[in-house]
Amino acid sequence: MPEADNHFLDLAAPGVRALQPYQPGKPVTELEREFGICNAIKLASNENPFGPAPAAIAAGTAALQGIARYPEGSGHALVARLAEKHDIPTTCITLGNGSNDVLDLVTRVFLTPQHEAVFSRHAFAVYPISVQAVGATARVAAAHDGSRGPAWGHDLDAMRALVGDDTRVVFIANPNNPTGTWLTAAELEGFIADLPAHVMVVVDEAYFEYVGMADYPDASRWLDKYPNLIVTRTFSKAYGLAGLRVGYALSHPGVAGLLNRVRQPFNVNLVAQAAALAALDDDEHLTECVRRNHAGMQQLVDGFAKLELSHIESAGNFVCVDTGRPGQDVYRALLQEGVIVRPVDNYEMPNHLRVTVGRADENARFLAALAKVLA
Ligand SMILES: *Cc1c(COP(=O)(O)O)cnc(C)c1O
Repeated sequence: MPEADNHFLDLAAPGVRALQPYQPGKPVTELEREFGICNAIKLASNENPFGPAPAAIAAGTAALQGIARYPEGSGHALVARLAEKHDIPTTCITLGNGSNDVLDLVTRVFLTPQHEAVFSRHAFAVYPISVQAVGATARVAAAHDGSRGPAWGHDLDAMRALVGDDTRVVFIANPNNPTGTWLTAAELEGFIADLPAHVMVVVDEAYFEYVGMADYPDASRWLDKYPNLIVTRTFSKAYGLAGLRVGYALSHPGVAGLLNRVRQPFNVNLVAQAAALAALDDDEHLTECVRRNHAGMQQLVDGFAKLELSHIESAGNFVCVDTGRPGQDVYRALLQEGVIVRPVDNYEMPNHLRVTVGRADENARFLAALAKVLA
Protein backbone atom coordinates (compact mmCIF):
# COMPACT_ATOMS: atom_id res chain seq x y z
CA MET A 1 0.00 0.00 0.00
CA PRO A 2 1.38 3.46 -0.87
CA GLU A 3 2.35 5.41 2.24
CA ALA A 4 -0.13 8.20 1.33
CA ASP A 5 -3.07 5.77 1.46
CA ASN A 6 -2.18 4.47 4.89
CA HIS A 7 -4.54 6.50 7.08
CA PHE A 8 -3.33 4.68 10.17
CA LEU A 9 -0.08 6.61 9.78
CA ASP A 10 -1.72 9.65 11.43
CA LEU A 11 -2.60 7.49 14.40
CA ALA A 12 0.92 6.16 14.93
CA ALA A 13 3.19 7.60 17.60
CA PRO A 14 5.35 10.40 16.09
CA GLY A 15 8.59 8.44 16.41
CA VAL A 16 7.08 5.43 14.68
CA ARG A 17 5.71 7.49 11.76
CA ALA A 18 9.17 8.24 10.36
CA LEU A 19 10.57 4.77 11.04
CA GLN A 20 11.76 2.42 8.31
CA PRO A 21 11.62 -1.29 9.17
CA TYR A 22 14.93 -3.10 9.78
CA GLN A 23 16.13 -4.87 6.62
CA PRO A 24 17.40 -8.32 7.53
CA GLY A 25 19.72 -10.38 5.34
CA LYS A 26 17.86 -12.23 2.61
CA PRO A 27 17.01 -15.80 3.64
CA VAL A 28 18.38 -18.62 1.45
CA THR A 29 14.89 -20.07 0.93
CA GLU A 30 13.62 -16.73 -0.39
CA LEU A 31 16.46 -16.41 -2.92
CA GLU A 32 16.05 -20.00 -4.10
CA ARG A 33 12.31 -19.44 -4.57
CA GLU A 34 12.77 -16.17 -6.48
CA PHE A 35 15.57 -17.35 -8.78
CA GLY A 36 14.57 -21.00 -9.08
CA ILE A 37 18.03 -22.12 -7.96
CA CYS A 38 19.34 -24.41 -5.27
CA ASN A 39 22.54 -24.53 -3.19
CA ALA A 40 22.50 -20.82 -2.48
CA ILE A 41 24.75 -19.67 0.35
CA LYS A 42 24.12 -16.92 2.86
CA LEU A 43 26.97 -14.83 4.22
CA ALA A 44 24.71 -11.96 5.19
CA SER A 45 23.74 -11.99 8.87
CA ASN A 46 26.93 -12.73 10.82
CA GLU A 47 25.66 -16.09 12.01
CA ASN A 48 28.11 -18.83 13.03
CA PRO A 49 28.46 -21.10 9.97
CA PHE A 50 29.64 -23.98 12.19
CA GLY A 51 26.51 -23.92 14.32
CA PRO A 52 26.11 -24.25 18.07
CA ALA A 53 27.72 -26.79 20.39
CA PRO A 54 26.06 -30.20 19.87
CA ALA A 55 25.10 -30.21 23.56
CA ALA A 56 23.10 -27.01 23.00
CA ILE A 57 21.02 -28.66 20.28
CA ALA A 58 20.51 -31.70 22.52
CA ALA A 59 19.44 -29.55 25.47
CA GLY A 60 17.08 -27.49 23.32
CA THR A 61 15.57 -30.64 21.84
CA ALA A 62 15.05 -32.16 25.28
CA ALA A 63 13.47 -28.94 26.52
CA LEU A 64 10.78 -29.24 23.83
CA GLN A 65 9.16 -31.90 26.02
CA GLY A 66 8.31 -29.20 28.52
CA ILE A 67 6.91 -26.48 26.29
CA ALA A 68 3.33 -26.80 27.49
CA ARG A 69 4.51 -24.78 30.50
CA TYR A 70 5.84 -21.25 30.68
CA PRO A 71 9.56 -21.04 31.24
CA GLU A 72 10.89 -19.70 34.52
CA GLY A 73 10.31 -15.99 34.09
CA SER A 74 13.51 -15.12 35.90
CA GLY A 75 15.56 -17.50 33.74
CA HIS A 76 17.02 -18.68 37.02
CA ALA A 77 19.44 -21.39 35.86
CA LEU A 78 20.80 -19.40 32.92
CA VAL A 79 21.18 -16.25 35.01
CA ALA A 80 23.01 -18.18 37.73
CA ARG A 81 25.37 -19.71 35.17
CA LEU A 82 26.05 -16.30 33.56
CA ALA A 83 26.72 -14.79 36.99
CA GLU A 84 29.32 -17.47 37.59
CA LYS A 85 30.86 -17.00 34.13
CA HIS A 86 31.19 -13.23 34.56
CA ASP A 87 31.95 -13.39 38.29
CA ILE A 88 29.15 -10.93 38.99
CA PRO A 89 25.99 -11.03 41.20
CA THR A 90 22.85 -12.46 39.56
CA THR A 91 21.12 -9.13 40.27
CA CYS A 92 23.33 -7.50 37.61
CA ILE A 93 21.96 -9.64 34.76
CA THR A 94 18.98 -8.94 32.50
CA LEU A 95 18.01 -11.55 29.92
CA GLY A 96 16.69 -10.51 26.53
CA ASN A 97 15.03 -12.06 23.51
CA GLY A 98 18.32 -11.49 21.71
CA SER A 99 20.46 -8.58 22.83
CA ASN A 100 18.33 -6.35 20.58
CA ASP A 101 15.56 -6.86 23.12
CA VAL A 102 17.87 -5.57 25.85
CA LEU A 103 18.78 -2.52 23.74
CA ASP A 104 15.07 -1.84 23.41
CA LEU A 105 14.57 -2.14 27.18
CA VAL A 106 17.31 0.44 27.67
CA THR A 107 15.64 2.97 25.37
CA ARG A 108 12.26 2.42 27.00
CA VAL A 109 13.66 2.92 30.49
CA PHE A 110 15.91 5.93 29.86
CA LEU A 111 14.62 7.80 26.81
CA THR A 112 11.57 10.01 26.26
CA PRO A 113 10.72 12.53 23.48
CA GLN A 114 12.59 15.12 25.61
CA HIS A 115 15.79 13.10 25.62
CA GLU A 116 18.64 12.31 23.26
CA ALA A 117 20.78 9.31 22.44
CA VAL A 118 24.24 9.51 20.90
CA PHE A 119 25.81 6.98 18.57
CA SER A 120 28.22 6.95 15.65
CA ARG A 121 27.58 7.14 11.96
CA HIS A 122 27.78 3.63 10.41
CA ALA A 123 26.82 2.12 13.79
CA PHE A 124 24.50 -0.86 14.27
CA ALA A 125 21.06 -0.18 12.71
CA VAL A 126 19.05 -1.20 15.76
CA TYR A 127 20.17 1.90 17.73
CA PRO A 128 18.35 4.44 15.53
CA ILE A 129 15.27 2.21 15.32
CA SER A 130 15.01 1.75 19.10
CA VAL A 131 15.68 5.42 19.80
CA GLN A 132 13.19 6.68 17.25
CA ALA A 133 10.51 4.21 18.33
CA VAL A 134 10.30 5.89 21.74
CA GLY A 135 10.26 9.34 20.14
CA ALA A 136 13.69 10.36 21.43
CA THR A 137 16.20 12.28 19.34
CA ALA A 138 19.21 10.53 17.83
CA ARG A 139 22.43 12.56 17.71
CA VAL A 140 24.71 10.90 15.19
CA ALA A 141 28.45 11.61 15.48
CA ALA A 142 30.71 11.70 12.44
CA ALA A 143 32.89 8.60 12.18
CA HIS A 144 36.68 8.68 11.86
CA ASP A 145 37.88 9.73 8.40
CA GLY A 146 41.13 7.84 8.85
CA SER A 147 43.29 10.75 9.97
CA ARG A 148 43.04 10.19 13.76
CA GLY A 149 41.65 6.66 14.04
CA PRO A 150 40.54 3.75 11.86
CA ALA A 151 38.44 5.10 8.97
CA TRP A 152 34.70 4.37 9.41
CA GLY A 153 35.23 3.62 13.13
CA HIS A 154 33.64 5.36 16.12
CA ASP A 155 35.21 8.78 16.81
CA LEU A 156 34.83 9.03 20.58
CA ASP A 157 35.76 12.73 20.66
CA ALA A 158 33.02 13.50 18.13
CA MET A 159 30.59 11.42 20.20
CA ARG A 160 31.57 13.16 23.44
CA ALA A 161 30.97 16.54 21.80
CA LEU A 162 27.31 15.57 21.21
CA VAL A 163 26.67 14.61 24.84
CA GLY A 164 24.67 17.31 26.63
CA ASP A 165 22.16 17.89 29.39
CA ASP A 166 19.42 15.99 27.55
CA THR A 167 21.56 12.98 26.65
CA ARG A 168 20.52 9.86 28.53
CA VAL A 169 22.06 7.03 26.48
CA VAL A 170 25.21 6.56 24.40
CA PHE A 171 25.50 3.43 22.27
CA ILE A 172 28.91 2.01 21.41
CA ALA A 173 29.32 -1.22 19.47
CA ASN A 174 32.70 -2.79 20.16
CA PRO A 175 33.46 -4.11 17.65
CA ASN A 176 30.94 -2.29 15.51
CA ASN A 177 28.67 -3.89 12.94
CA PRO A 178 28.88 -3.34 9.94
CA THR A 179 32.34 -1.71 9.97
CA GLY A 180 34.13 -4.32 12.13
CA THR A 181 36.16 -1.52 13.72
CA TRP A 182 36.98 -1.74 17.43
CA LEU A 183 38.05 0.48 20.30
CA THR A 184 40.99 -0.20 22.58
CA ALA A 185 40.71 -0.53 26.36
CA ALA A 186 42.45 2.80 26.95
CA GLU A 187 40.33 4.87 24.58
CA LEU A 188 37.02 3.29 25.59
CA GLU A 189 37.63 3.52 29.32
CA GLY A 190 38.79 7.12 28.95
CA PHE A 191 35.51 7.93 27.20
CA ILE A 192 33.35 6.21 29.82
CA ALA A 193 35.22 7.81 32.74
CA ASP A 194 34.63 11.26 31.22
CA LEU A 195 30.83 10.90 30.81
CA PRO A 196 28.50 12.83 33.12
CA ALA A 197 26.61 10.69 35.65
CA HIS A 198 23.24 11.31 33.96
CA VAL A 199 24.33 9.43 30.81
CA MET A 200 24.03 5.66 30.50
CA VAL A 201 26.62 4.13 28.21
CA VAL A 202 25.77 0.88 26.44
CA VAL A 203 28.79 -1.10 25.26
CA ASP A 204 27.44 -3.66 22.80
CA GLU A 205 29.80 -6.64 22.75
CA ALA A 206 27.86 -8.89 20.37
CA TYR A 207 31.11 -10.12 18.79
CA PHE A 208 33.18 -10.27 21.99
CA GLU A 209 34.18 -13.93 21.66
CA TYR A 210 35.62 -13.42 18.17
CA VAL A 211 37.98 -10.58 19.00
CA GLY A 212 41.64 -11.53 19.17
CA MET A 213 43.24 -8.09 19.50
CA ALA A 214 45.45 -7.75 22.60
CA ASP A 215 44.24 -4.26 23.54
CA TYR A 216 40.52 -5.12 23.19
CA PRO A 217 38.67 -4.68 26.50
CA ASP A 218 36.08 -6.77 28.32
CA ALA A 219 34.01 -3.77 29.42
CA SER A 220 32.12 -5.88 31.98
CA ARG A 221 35.28 -5.72 34.15
CA TRP A 222 34.56 -2.00 34.64
CA LEU A 223 31.03 -2.33 36.03
CA ASP A 224 32.18 -1.73 39.61
CA LYS A 225 33.92 1.49 38.61
CA TYR A 226 31.23 2.96 36.35
CA PRO A 227 27.64 2.46 37.60
CA ASN A 228 26.25 4.06 34.42
CA LEU A 229 27.75 1.29 32.24
CA ILE A 230 25.61 -1.37 30.55
CA VAL A 231 27.35 -4.18 28.67
CA THR A 232 25.37 -6.35 26.27
CA ARG A 233 26.26 -9.82 25.02
CA THR A 234 24.50 -12.35 22.81
CA PHE A 235 24.26 -16.05 22.00
CA SER A 236 23.44 -15.18 18.36
CA LYS A 237 26.95 -14.86 17.01
CA ALA A 238 29.88 -17.01 18.21
CA TYR A 239 27.57 -19.31 20.22
CA GLY A 240 25.60 -20.08 17.05
CA LEU A 241 22.09 -19.66 18.50
CA ALA A 242 20.76 -16.76 16.37
CA GLY A 243 17.50 -18.58 15.65
CA LEU A 244 16.65 -18.98 19.34
CA ARG A 245 17.07 -15.30 20.35
CA VAL A 246 18.99 -15.03 23.61
CA GLY A 247 21.07 -12.09 24.79
CA TYR A 248 21.68 -10.31 28.05
CA ALA A 249 22.84 -7.15 29.74
CA LEU A 250 25.34 -6.80 32.57
CA SER A 251 24.82 -3.67 34.64
CA HIS A 252 24.51 -2.13 38.08
CA PRO A 253 21.69 -3.93 39.99
CA GLY A 254 19.75 -0.65 40.13
CA VAL A 255 19.80 -0.45 36.34
CA ALA A 256 18.95 -4.15 35.98
CA GLY A 257 15.98 -3.56 38.29
CA LEU A 258 14.68 -0.83 35.99
CA LEU A 259 15.19 -2.93 32.86
CA ASN A 260 13.29 -5.69 34.58
CA ARG A 261 10.29 -3.39 35.11
CA VAL A 262 9.66 -3.04 31.38
CA ARG A 263 10.84 -6.52 30.37
CA GLN A 264 8.02 -8.74 29.10
CA PRO A 265 7.43 -11.77 31.31
CA PHE A 266 8.95 -14.89 29.70
CA ASN A 267 10.86 -12.88 27.08
CA VAL A 268 13.36 -15.72 26.70
CA ASN A 269 11.65 -18.97 25.84
CA LEU A 270 12.13 -22.36 27.45
CA VAL A 271 14.08 -23.96 24.59
CA ALA A 272 16.36 -20.95 24.24
CA GLN A 273 17.17 -20.91 27.97
CA ALA A 274 18.08 -24.60 27.94
CA ALA A 275 20.21 -24.40 24.79
CA ALA A 276 22.05 -21.26 25.93
CA LEU A 277 22.82 -22.86 29.28
CA ALA A 278 24.32 -25.92 27.59
CA ALA A 279 26.24 -23.80 25.06
CA LEU A 280 28.12 -22.15 27.93
CA ASP A 281 29.62 -25.50 28.89
CA ASP A 282 31.41 -26.19 25.62
CA ASP A 283 34.38 -23.84 25.50
CA GLU A 284 36.18 -26.17 23.12
CA HIS A 285 33.52 -25.77 20.45
CA LEU A 286 33.57 -22.00 20.89
CA THR A 287 37.37 -21.87 20.61
CA GLU A 288 37.29 -24.00 17.48
CA CYS A 289 34.64 -21.75 15.86
CA VAL A 290 36.74 -18.69 16.65
CA ARG A 291 39.87 -20.35 15.24
CA ARG A 292 38.07 -21.27 12.02
CA ASN A 293 36.66 -17.75 11.82
CA HIS A 294 40.16 -16.28 11.93
CA ALA A 295 41.28 -18.65 9.17
CA GLY A 296 38.22 -17.75 7.11
CA MET A 297 38.84 -14.04 7.64
CA GLN A 298 42.37 -14.50 6.32
CA GLN A 299 40.98 -16.40 3.33
CA LEU A 300 38.63 -13.51 2.50
CA VAL A 301 41.26 -10.81 3.05
CA ASP A 302 43.76 -12.67 0.83
CA GLY A 303 41.03 -12.99 -1.79
CA PHE A 304 40.28 -9.26 -1.68
CA ALA A 305 44.00 -8.49 -2.10
CA LYS A 306 44.11 -10.71 -5.20
CA LEU A 307 41.18 -8.78 -6.63
CA GLU A 308 42.88 -5.51 -5.65
CA LEU A 309 39.94 -4.55 -3.44
CA SER A 310 40.40 -2.73 -0.16
CA HIS A 311 38.56 -3.76 2.99
CA ILE A 312 38.06 -2.41 6.51
CA GLU A 313 40.07 -4.40 9.06
CA SER A 314 37.51 -6.24 11.19
CA ALA A 315 37.58 -7.75 14.67
CA GLY A 316 34.33 -9.69 14.14
CA ASN A 317 33.09 -12.57 11.99
CA PHE A 318 32.35 -10.31 9.02
CA VAL A 319 34.23 -7.85 6.87
CA CYS A 320 33.34 -4.88 4.66
CA VAL A 321 34.92 -4.84 1.23
CA ASP A 322 35.02 -1.78 -1.02
CA THR A 323 33.78 -2.95 -4.42
CA GLY A 324 34.68 0.34 -6.12
CA ARG A 325 31.18 0.61 -7.53
CA PRO A 326 27.64 0.67 -6.12
CA GLY A 327 27.42 -2.21 -3.67
CA GLN A 328 23.74 -2.73 -4.53
CA ASP A 329 24.73 -3.64 -8.12
CA VAL A 330 27.36 -6.13 -6.96
CA TYR A 331 24.93 -7.52 -4.37
CA ARG A 332 22.31 -8.19 -7.05
CA ALA A 333 24.85 -9.74 -9.40
CA LEU A 334 26.01 -12.02 -6.59
CA LEU A 335 22.40 -13.09 -5.95
CA GLN A 336 22.34 -14.39 -9.54
CA GLU A 337 25.32 -16.55 -8.55
CA GLY A 338 23.44 -17.87 -5.52
CA VAL A 339 25.51 -15.89 -3.02
CA ILE A 340 23.79 -13.66 -0.47
CA VAL A 341 25.86 -10.92 1.18
CA ARG A 342 24.79 -7.62 2.68
CA PRO A 343 24.71 -4.28 0.87
CA VAL A 344 25.37 -1.49 3.37
CA ASP A 345 24.20 1.61 1.48
CA ASN A 346 21.61 2.01 4.26
CA TYR A 347 24.61 2.53 6.58
CA GLU A 348 25.89 5.31 4.29
CA MET A 349 28.50 2.95 2.85
CA PRO A 350 27.33 2.85 -0.79
CA ASN A 351 30.33 1.04 -2.31
CA HIS A 352 30.91 -1.55 0.39
CA LEU A 353 29.45 -5.00 0.88
CA ARG A 354 29.44 -6.68 4.28
CA VAL A 355 30.37 -10.35 4.06
CA THR A 356 30.04 -12.80 6.93
CA VAL A 357 32.98 -15.17 7.27
CA GLY A 358 31.61 -18.55 6.25
CA ARG A 359 33.01 -22.06 6.05
CA ALA A 360 36.10 -22.38 3.83
CA ASP A 361 34.05 -23.73 0.90
CA GLU A 362 31.53 -20.89 1.24
CA ASN A 363 34.28 -18.26 1.35
CA ALA A 364 35.87 -19.76 -1.77
CA ARG A 365 32.55 -19.78 -3.57
CA PHE A 366 31.87 -16.16 -2.62
CA LEU A 367 35.33 -15.05 -3.79
CA ALA A 368 34.91 -16.85 -7.12
CA ALA A 369 31.49 -15.28 -7.62
CA LEU A 370 32.84 -11.84 -6.69
CA ALA A 371 35.71 -12.18 -9.18
CA LYS A 372 33.20 -13.19 -11.86
CA VAL A 373 30.72 -10.35 -11.30
CA LEU A 374 33.46 -7.69 -11.05
CA ALA A 375 35.23 -8.89 -14.23
C1 LIG B 1 23.99 -9.08 15.72
C2 LIG B 1 24.16 -7.91 16.63
C3 LIG B 1 23.46 -7.80 17.82
C4 LIG B 1 22.52 -8.76 18.31
O1 LIG B 1 21.70 -9.42 18.01
P1 LIG B 1 20.72 -10.39 18.82
O2 LIG B 1 20.57 -11.51 17.89
O3 LIG B 1 19.50 -9.59 19.03
O4 LIG B 1 21.41 -10.73 20.10
C5 LIG B 1 23.69 -6.73 18.65
N1 LIG B 1 24.58 -5.80 18.33
C6 LIG B 1 25.28 -5.87 17.20
C7 LIG B 1 26.28 -4.82 16.93
C8 LIG B 1 25.09 -6.92 16.31
O5 LIG B 1 25.75 -6.96 15.17
